[in-house]
Amino acid sequence: MEKGSLYIVATPIGNLGDLTFRAKEILESVDLIACEDTRHASILLNHYKINKPRLSFHSHSGRTKVDKIMDYLKNGSDVALISDAGTPGISDPGYVLIQAALDDGVEVIPIPGPSAVITALCASGLPTDKFLYLGFLPTKKGRQTLFKKIADSEYTVVFYESPHRLIKTLTQLKDFLSPDSKVVVAKELTKIYETFYRGSISDVIKQIPEKPKGEYVIMIKS
Ligand code: SAM
Repeated sequence: MEKGSLYIVATPIGNLGDLTFRAKEILESVDLIACEDTRHASILLNHYKINKPRLSFHSHSGRTKVDKIMDYLKNGSDVALISDAGTPGISDPGYVLIQAALDDGVEVIPIPGPSAVITALCASGLPTDKFLYLGFLPTKKGRQTLFKKIADSEYTVVFYESPHRLIKTLTQLKDFLSPDSKVVVAKELTKIYETFYRGSISDVIKQIPEKPKGEYVIMIKS
């Protein structure tokens, strides 16, 4: 029996209008949609009136879930993998399933679209010909070493940060960066409260509200 294909489908990072035509076509055509969170996925899928069977697949999904999805693929079903926002596999679940699919000779097809890292970088005004993406920084061990690496990097460095750690991270980074380092923090990209804070690290810290809310990408060019 011919195996199905695994489609890695990027979905909007806030603005529902950012789903590509091809992503919509694929989501309408597959037999199963593996979603990071089925309830969260319903917002997008209902908006586009896409009514396909859904299965949850998240970072804590074990081997059983991977095997279940692999059974669909091996039995000829096409499966789309989506995350809560942006591109699956980019600081989001996907790697284990993609690796299992490749190991079993299943075709893995990327359907490109939004990702917060690229969306933030392209409007940052920082050099983007080369950049270093660090995902989420560690919350405990290894932060100081990484801050030093960020400060020493010849490339623009970009990483994700949660709202409740944003000020702490920027304040700690301040001790490592030179005053001429350029910092850009992108908030709530593609959403109503989209904001870019730009300047030196001290300037940026001053601009950020005391109790930040929303989603953030931090970019630094030392
Ligand atoms: N796979 C996603 C992608 O391709 O962008 C990233 C998923 S990661 C779990 C979620 C983090 O991405 C958030 O904590 C935030 O740092 C960043 N992010 C996602 N959407 C964002 C947005 N609309 N504006 C700013 N940052 C965003």
